[in-house]
Amino acid sequence: MTVAATRTDTALLRTRGLTKHFPIRRGLFGRTVGTVRAVDGVDLTVPAGRTVALVGESGCGKSTLGRCLLRVHPPTSGEIVYHRTDGTAVDLAALDEKGLKPYRSEIRLVFQDPFASLNPRMTLLQIVGEPLRVNLRLSAKETEERVAELLRRVGLRPEYLRRYPNAFSGGQRQRVGIARALALAPRLVVADEAVSALDVSVRAQILNLLKDLQDESDLTYLFISHDLGVVEYMADEVAVMYVGRVVETGATEEMYGQPLHPYTEALLSAVPDPDPAARRRERIVLRGEVADASNVPAGCPFHPRCAYAQDVCRTDVPALRPVAPGRTSACHFAGQLDLKGVDGP
Ligand code: SF4
Repeated sequence: MTVAATRTDTALLRTRGLTKHFPIRRGLFGRTVGTVRAVDGVDLTVPAGRTVALVGESGCGKSTLGRCLLRVHPPTSGEIVYHRTDGTAVDLAALDEKGLKPYRSEIRLVFQDPFASLNPRMTLLQIVGEPLRVNLRLSAKETEERVAELLRRVGLRPEYLRRYPNAFSGGQRQRVGIARALALAPRLVVADEAVSALDVSVRAQILNLLKDLQDESDLTYLFISHDLGVVEYMADEVAVMYVGRVVETGATEEMYGQPLHPYTEALLSAVPDPDPAARRRERIVLRGEVADASNVPAGCPFHPRCAYAQDVCRTDVPALRPVAPGRTSACHFAGQLDLKGVDGP
Protein backbone atom coordinates (compact mmCIF):
# COMPACT_ATOMS: atom_id res chain seq x y z
CA MET A 1 0.00 0.00 0.00
CA THR A 2 1.55 3.30 -1.10
CA VAL A 3 0.91 6.30 1.14
CA ALA A 4 1.45 10.01 0.61
CA ALA A 5 4.88 11.43 1.38
CA THR A 6 5.79 15.11 1.33
CA ARG A 7 8.92 16.19 -0.57
CA THR A 8 10.36 17.89 2.50
CA ASP A 9 9.95 14.80 4.65
CA THR A 10 13.41 13.63 5.73
CA ALA A 11 12.05 10.75 7.79
CA LEU A 12 13.14 7.30 6.75
CA LEU A 13 10.40 5.75 8.84
CA ARG A 14 7.47 7.12 10.77
CA THR A 15 4.89 5.29 12.85
CA ARG A 16 1.38 6.56 13.41
CA GLY A 17 -0.71 5.16 16.24
CA LEU A 18 1.29 1.91 16.18
CA THR A 19 -0.21 -0.64 18.52
CA LYS A 20 0.69 -4.20 19.43
CA HIS A 21 -1.59 -6.02 21.83
CA PHE A 22 -1.08 -9.64 22.86
CA PRO A 23 -4.14 -11.57 24.06
CA ILE A 24 -3.84 -13.42 27.38
CA ARG A 25 -5.42 -16.83 26.91
CA ARG A 26 -6.43 -19.28 29.61
CA GLY A 27 -8.14 -22.63 29.93
CA LEU A 28 -8.61 -25.62 27.68
CA PHE A 29 -10.18 -23.60 24.88
CA GLY A 30 -7.74 -20.71 25.06
CA ARG A 31 -10.37 -18.18 26.08
CA THR A 32 -9.09 -14.59 25.96
CA VAL A 33 -9.09 -13.22 29.51
CA GLY A 34 -7.07 -10.06 29.03
CA THR A 35 -4.76 -8.03 26.81
CA VAL A 36 -1.12 -7.06 27.16
CA ARG A 37 -0.76 -3.57 25.69
CA ALA A 38 2.91 -3.99 24.78
CA VAL A 39 2.89 -1.08 22.30
CA ASP A 40 0.03 1.36 22.66
CA GLY A 41 -0.46 4.05 20.03
CA VAL A 42 3.13 5.07 19.28
CA ASP A 43 3.96 7.98 16.96
CA LEU A 44 7.69 7.85 16.28
CA THR A 45 9.85 9.47 13.61
CA VAL A 46 13.22 8.07 12.57
CA PRO A 47 15.05 10.65 10.40
CA ALA A 48 17.27 9.33 7.58
CA GLY A 49 20.96 9.03 8.42
CA ARG A 50 20.43 9.64 12.14
CA THR A 51 20.40 7.51 15.28
CA VAL A 52 17.21 7.46 17.30
CA ALA A 53 17.39 5.71 20.66
CA LEU A 54 14.42 4.01 22.27
CA VAL A 55 14.97 3.91 26.02
CA GLY A 56 13.14 2.73 29.11
CA GLU A 57 13.23 0.03 31.75
CA SER A 58 12.85 -3.63 30.88
CA GLY A 59 9.19 -4.32 30.06
CA CYS A 60 8.41 -0.83 28.72
CA GLY A 61 7.74 -2.14 25.19
CA LYS A 62 10.81 -0.89 23.36
CA SER A 63 11.92 -4.29 22.00
CA THR A 64 8.36 -5.14 20.93
CA LEU A 65 8.18 -1.83 19.07
CA GLY A 66 11.48 -2.62 17.32
CA ARG A 67 10.16 -6.03 16.30
CA CYS A 68 6.94 -4.48 14.98
CA LEU A 69 9.03 -2.23 12.71
CA LEU A 70 10.82 -5.33 11.42
CA ARG A 71 7.41 -7.01 11.10
CA VAL A 72 8.58 -9.88 13.30
CA HIS A 73 5.38 -9.04 15.18
CA PRO A 74 2.44 -8.00 12.99
CA PRO A 75 1.03 -4.78 14.48
CA THR A 76 -2.49 -4.84 15.91
CA SER A 77 -3.23 -1.44 14.36
CA GLY A 78 -1.52 1.73 13.17
CA GLU A 79 0.88 2.57 10.36
CA ILE A 80 4.60 2.07 9.70
CA VAL A 81 5.30 4.57 6.94
CA TYR A 82 8.60 3.72 5.24
CA HIS A 83 10.11 6.14 2.73
CA ARG A 84 11.58 4.45 -0.31
CA THR A 85 14.62 5.70 -2.20
CA ASP A 86 12.39 6.95 -5.05
CA GLY A 87 10.66 9.43 -2.74
CA THR A 88 7.42 7.48 -2.38
CA ALA A 89 6.32 5.86 0.86
CA VAL A 90 4.74 2.55 1.79
CA ASP A 91 2.85 1.39 4.87
CA LEU A 92 4.75 -1.70 6.02
CA ALA A 93 2.01 -2.50 8.54
CA ALA A 94 -0.45 -3.14 5.70
CA LEU A 95 1.74 -5.52 3.68
CA ASP A 96 1.57 -9.30 3.62
CA GLU A 97 4.72 -11.45 3.64
CA LYS A 98 5.08 -11.29 -0.15
CA GLY A 99 4.70 -7.50 -0.17
CA LEU A 100 7.26 -7.17 2.65
CA LYS A 101 9.96 -9.16 0.84
CA PRO A 102 11.63 -6.19 -0.94
CA TYR A 103 11.95 -4.36 2.40
CA ARG A 104 13.31 -7.26 4.45
CA SER A 105 16.80 -6.53 3.13
CA GLU A 106 16.50 -2.78 3.82
CA ILE A 107 15.64 -3.06 7.52
CA ARG A 108 17.88 -5.41 9.49
CA LEU A 109 18.33 -6.39 13.12
CA VAL A 110 21.46 -6.65 15.27
CA PHE A 111 20.68 -8.97 18.16
CA GLN A 112 21.52 -8.46 21.81
CA ASP A 113 23.26 -11.72 22.58
CA PRO A 114 26.23 -12.48 20.31
CA PHE A 115 26.53 -15.93 21.92
CA ALA A 116 22.96 -17.09 21.30
CA SER A 117 22.33 -15.38 17.96
CA LEU A 118 25.02 -17.18 15.91
CA ASN A 119 24.47 -20.81 14.95
CA PRO A 120 27.46 -22.68 16.46
CA ARG A 121 27.38 -25.25 13.64
CA MET A 122 27.82 -22.68 10.87
CA THR A 123 31.06 -21.03 9.77
CA LEU A 124 31.31 -17.25 9.43
CA LEU A 125 31.07 -17.75 5.67
CA GLN A 126 27.73 -19.52 6.09
CA ILE A 127 26.40 -17.13 8.75
CA VAL A 128 27.22 -13.91 6.93
CA GLY A 129 26.77 -15.42 3.45
CA GLU A 130 23.32 -16.87 4.06
CA PRO A 131 21.36 -13.65 3.37
CA LEU A 132 23.47 -13.08 0.25
CA ARG A 133 22.83 -16.58 -1.03
CA VAL A 134 19.10 -16.48 -0.29
CA ASN A 135 18.35 -12.94 -1.47
CA LEU A 136 20.90 -12.20 -4.18
CA ARG A 137 21.53 -15.74 -5.44
CA LEU A 138 25.27 -15.11 -5.66
CA SER A 139 27.65 -17.85 -6.74
CA ALA A 140 29.86 -19.52 -4.13
CA LYS A 141 32.89 -17.48 -5.26
CA GLU A 142 30.97 -14.18 -5.25
CA THR A 143 29.52 -14.95 -1.81
CA GLU A 144 32.99 -15.69 -0.41
CA GLU A 145 34.37 -12.43 -1.80
CA ARG A 146 31.46 -10.41 -0.39
CA VAL A 147 31.72 -12.08 3.04
CA ALA A 148 35.49 -11.47 3.15
CA GLU A 149 34.85 -7.80 2.40
CA LEU A 150 32.12 -7.58 5.05
CA LEU A 151 34.42 -9.13 7.65
CA ARG A 152 37.08 -6.56 6.75
CA ARG A 153 34.54 -3.74 7.18
CA VAL A 154 33.70 -4.84 10.72
CA GLY A 155 37.35 -5.25 11.70
CA LEU A 156 37.70 -9.04 11.34
CA ARG A 157 40.31 -10.82 9.26
CA PRO A 158 38.97 -12.48 6.08
CA GLU A 159 41.02 -15.57 6.96
CA TYR A 160 38.40 -16.27 9.66
CA LEU A 161 35.86 -17.23 6.97
CA ARG A 162 35.84 -20.92 7.75
CA ARG A 163 35.98 -20.68 11.51
CA TYR A 164 33.02 -21.32 13.82
CA PRO A 165 31.59 -18.80 16.32
CA ASN A 166 33.03 -20.60 19.35
CA ALA A 167 36.51 -19.54 18.19
CA PHE A 168 35.66 -15.90 18.89
CA SER A 169 35.20 -13.56 21.84
CA GLY A 170 31.90 -11.80 22.59
CA GLY A 171 33.06 -8.61 20.87
CA GLN A 172 34.21 -10.50 17.77
CA ARG A 173 30.90 -12.39 17.63
CA GLN A 174 29.01 -9.12 17.75
CA ARG A 175 31.14 -7.92 14.84
CA VAL A 176 29.99 -11.05 12.97
CA GLY A 177 26.36 -10.21 13.85
CA ILE A 178 26.87 -6.69 12.50
CA ALA A 179 28.48 -8.06 9.30
CA ARG A 180 25.43 -10.29 8.82
CA ALA A 181 23.08 -7.33 9.35
CA LEU A 182 25.04 -5.28 6.78
CA ALA A 183 25.27 -8.05 4.17
CA LEU A 184 22.33 -6.76 2.12
CA ALA A 185 23.28 -3.06 2.40
CA PRO A 186 20.34 -2.07 4.64
CA ARG A 187 19.10 1.50 5.08
CA LEU A 188 17.82 1.02 8.63
CA VAL A 189 19.46 -1.12 11.32
CA VAL A 190 17.53 -1.90 14.50
CA ALA A 191 20.15 -2.53 17.19
CA ASP A 192 18.38 -4.12 20.16
CA GLU A 193 20.58 -3.88 23.28
CA ALA A 194 23.46 -4.55 20.86
CA VAL A 195 26.23 -3.95 23.41
CA SER A 196 24.58 -4.86 26.72
CA ALA A 197 25.96 -8.41 26.77
CA LEU A 198 29.54 -7.21 26.16
CA ASP A 199 32.31 -6.30 28.60
CA VAL A 200 32.65 -2.58 29.19
CA SER A 201 36.06 -2.56 27.49
CA VAL A 202 34.62 -4.07 24.29
CA ARG A 203 31.46 -1.93 24.26
CA ALA A 204 33.28 1.21 23.17
CA GLN A 205 34.88 -0.64 20.23
CA ILE A 206 31.51 -1.89 18.97
CA LEU A 207 29.86 1.52 19.44
CA ASN A 208 32.68 3.17 17.51
CA LEU A 209 32.35 0.53 14.79
CA LEU A 210 28.61 1.27 14.49
CA LYS A 211 29.35 5.00 14.23
CA ASP A 212 32.04 4.47 11.58
CA LEU A 213 29.72 2.28 9.53
CA GLN A 214 27.01 4.92 9.77
CA ASP A 215 29.38 7.57 8.43
CA GLU A 216 30.56 5.30 5.61
CA SER A 217 27.16 4.10 4.46
CA ASP A 218 24.70 6.78 5.58
CA LEU A 219 22.96 4.20 7.76
CA THR A 220 20.02 5.00 9.98
CA TYR A 221 19.89 3.36 13.40
CA LEU A 222 17.09 2.63 15.80
CA PHE A 223 19.16 1.99 18.91
CA ILE A 224 17.21 0.20 21.63
CA SER A 225 18.86 0.35 25.04
CA HIS A 226 18.22 0.61 28.75
CA ASP A 227 21.69 2.16 29.23
CA LEU A 228 21.39 5.94 29.04
CA GLY A 229 25.16 6.37 29.24
CA VAL A 230 25.56 4.43 25.98
CA VAL A 231 22.60 6.26 24.45
CA GLU A 232 24.17 9.65 25.22
CA TYR A 233 27.21 8.60 23.19
CA MET A 234 25.30 7.06 20.28
CA ALA A 235 22.02 8.83 19.70
CA ASP A 236 21.07 12.08 17.97
CA GLU A 237 17.52 11.83 19.27
CA VAL A 238 15.83 9.90 22.07
CA ALA A 239 12.32 8.55 22.57
CA VAL A 240 11.53 7.47 26.14
CA MET A 241 8.97 4.67 26.51
CA TYR A 242 6.85 3.72 29.50
CA VAL A 243 4.26 0.91 29.45
CA GLY A 244 4.04 0.78 25.67
CA ARG A 245 3.80 4.53 25.14
CA VAL A 246 6.29 7.22 24.19
CA VAL A 247 6.37 9.72 27.05
CA GLU A 248 9.12 12.08 25.88
CA THR A 249 11.06 12.81 22.68
CA GLY A 250 13.82 15.25 21.82
CA ALA A 251 17.41 15.80 20.75
CA THR A 252 19.75 13.88 23.04
CA GLU A 253 21.76 16.83 24.33
CA GLU A 254 18.69 18.91 25.09
CA MET A 255 16.85 16.07 26.80
CA TYR A 256 19.86 15.11 28.93
CA GLY A 257 20.36 18.71 29.94
CA GLN A 258 16.70 19.40 30.70
CA PRO A 259 14.24 16.47 30.79
CA LEU A 260 10.55 17.32 30.39
CA HIS A 261 9.06 14.18 31.94
CA PRO A 262 9.59 12.90 35.51
CA TYR A 263 10.28 9.37 34.20
CA THR A 264 13.12 10.69 32.03
CA GLU A 265 14.49 12.58 35.04
CA ALA A 266 14.53 9.36 37.06
CA LEU A 267 16.26 7.39 34.27
CA LEU A 268 18.88 10.12 33.84
CA SER A 269 19.61 10.25 37.56
CA ALA A 270 21.06 6.72 37.25
CA VAL A 271 23.60 7.71 34.55
CA PRO A 272 27.08 7.48 36.12
CA ASP A 273 28.78 10.84 36.55
CA PRO A 274 31.78 11.00 34.19
CA ASP A 275 33.68 13.25 36.61
CA PRO A 276 34.19 11.44 39.93
CA ALA A 277 35.43 14.68 41.53
CA ALA A 278 32.19 16.49 40.71
CA ARG A 279 29.36 16.60 43.21
CA ARG A 280 27.28 13.50 42.53
CA ARG A 281 23.74 13.77 41.29
CA GLU A 282 21.14 12.44 43.61
CA ARG A 283 19.77 9.18 42.25
CA ILE A 284 15.98 9.01 42.05
CA VAL A 285 14.90 5.55 43.15
CA LEU A 286 11.55 4.80 41.53
CA ARG A 287 8.95 3.07 43.66
CA GLY A 288 7.90 -0.37 42.45
CA GLU A 289 8.20 -1.87 38.99
CA VAL A 290 7.11 -0.77 35.52
CA ALA A 291 3.31 -0.90 35.47
CA ASP A 292 1.72 -4.12 34.26
CA ALA A 293 0.93 -3.70 30.55
CA SER A 294 -2.15 -5.92 31.01
CA ASN A 295 -3.48 -3.69 33.77
CA VAL A 296 -2.34 -0.15 32.99
CA PRO A 297 -3.11 2.37 35.77
CA ALA A 298 -5.84 4.92 35.04
CA GLY A 299 -4.79 8.46 34.15
CA CYS A 300 -1.05 8.85 33.68
CA PRO A 301 0.41 5.30 33.70
CA PHE A 302 3.44 6.65 35.59
CA HIS A 303 1.43 8.21 38.44
CA PRO A 304 1.91 5.40 41.03
CA ARG A 305 5.68 5.99 40.83
CA CYS A 306 5.79 9.72 40.20
CA ALA A 307 6.96 12.10 42.93
CA TYR A 308 5.15 15.00 41.23
CA ALA A 309 1.72 13.34 40.79
CA GLN A 310 -1.40 15.46 41.45
CA ASP A 311 -5.07 14.48 41.50
CA VAL A 312 -5.47 15.06 37.74
CA CYS A 313 -2.72 12.51 37.08
CA ARG A 314 -4.84 9.74 38.61
CA THR A 315 -7.79 10.36 36.27
CA ASP A 316 -6.67 12.04 33.02
CA VAL A 317 -4.33 10.46 30.48
CA PRO A 318 -1.70 13.04 29.43
CA ALA A 319 -1.28 13.26 25.64
CA LEU A 320 2.18 13.42 24.06
CA ARG A 321 2.32 17.07 23.04
CA PRO A 322 4.88 19.62 21.84
CA VAL A 323 6.36 21.49 24.78
CA ALA A 324 9.33 23.26 23.18
CA PRO A 325 10.81 23.29 19.64
CA GLY A 326 11.67 19.69 18.78
CA ARG A 327 10.52 18.44 22.19
CA THR A 328 7.41 16.53 23.23
CA SER A 329 6.27 15.23 26.61
CA ALA A 330 3.29 13.26 27.91
CA CYS A 331 3.08 14.95 31.31
CA HIS A 332 0.30 17.27 32.47
CA PHE A 333 2.92 19.53 34.03
CA ALA A 334 5.62 19.42 31.34
CA GLY A 335 7.55 22.68 31.33
CA GLN A 336 6.28 23.63 34.80
CA LEU A 337 8.37 21.19 36.86
CA ASP A 338 11.97 21.85 37.88
CA LEU A 339 13.40 18.56 36.59
CA LYS A 340 17.12 17.80 36.79
CA GLY A 341 19.19 16.59 33.83
CA VAL A 342 22.66 15.11 33.84
CA ASP A 343 24.28 18.54 33.87
CA GLY A 344 21.86 19.94 36.41
CA PRO A 345 22.90 21.37 39.78
FE1 SF4 B 1 3.90 12.58 37.00
FE2 SF4 B 1 1.46 13.56 36.60
FE3 SF4 B 1 3.37 14.13 34.90
FE4 SF4 B 1 2.37 11.67 35.00
S1 SF4 B 1 1.29 13.51 34.38
S2 SF4 B 1 4.50 12.20 34.89
S3 SF4 B 1 2.00 11.47 37.20
S4 SF4 B 1 3.30 14.74 37.04
